[in-house]
Amino acid sequence: MKQPKILIFYGPPGAGKDTQARRVAFKSKAIIVSSSKLIEEKIFDPQLQNDPIVQRERKNYESGALCTPEWVTQIINDKVRELAAQKQSLIFTGSPRTMYEAENEIPYWEKFYGKENIHPILITLKPETSLFRNTHRRICEKCGYPVVYSWEAEMWKFCPLCGGGLIDRGVLDDEATIKVRLKEYEERTKPILDYLKERDYQIIEIDGEPFPDVVTQQLFDALVKINFFD
Ligand SMILES: [Zn+2]
Repeated sequence: MKQPKILIFYGPPGAGKDTQARRVAFKSKAIIVSSSKLIEEKIFDPQLQNDPIVQRERKNYESGALCTPEWVTQIINDKVRELAAQKQSLIFTGSPRTMYEAENEIPYWEKFYGKENIHPILITLKPETSLFRNTHRRICEKCGYPVVYSWEAEMWKFCPLCGGGLIDRGVLDDEATIKVRLKEYEERTKPILDYLKERDYQIIEIDGEPFPDVVTQQLFDALVKINFFD
């Protein structure tokens, strides 16, 4: 039987990790686990609205505050355990997001998947490329698909997924904002990658500079080597 695995994608804003993760999921039938989606499912579940913890987290969420880390980690780990029982391969993008999450999720996942089947992937990008792509970024007005700048995407007038119109992302694209997000990414991600290396993980590095299709090819080649598509 196919050995289920976990891929964890990291990469600065504009590296294309969501696009690449979607392509891997499409080819492999692995499931993309989105922590923000899991959080939303819980806090808006009509059957949980009397739960004081859900009430507390909903209040955090709606005020723009961070949800309690212990609670988030619990939700994610519960989901991983559930999907492991179904022998599902999983893909995370940008999560575990904090050291707290990494230290409390990775060792737990190892129990179900085995350390040798968990693969961190870093899509690298020069800061100036990240800045450029993000200040030239558009979004589908219909389905929200983000179109990061590339020579190819520059010519698109419509969303490649649903045909909706593409609009500028407005304030999110502000240069100063991107620089802050880049710095946050660096400061947050570096300790997590160090932590993974200390735990003997090999980080698979993929160059995010070329065209998305070239990145996909390099990524798929790397995934073939770890038997991800078997
Ligand atoms: Zn669309």
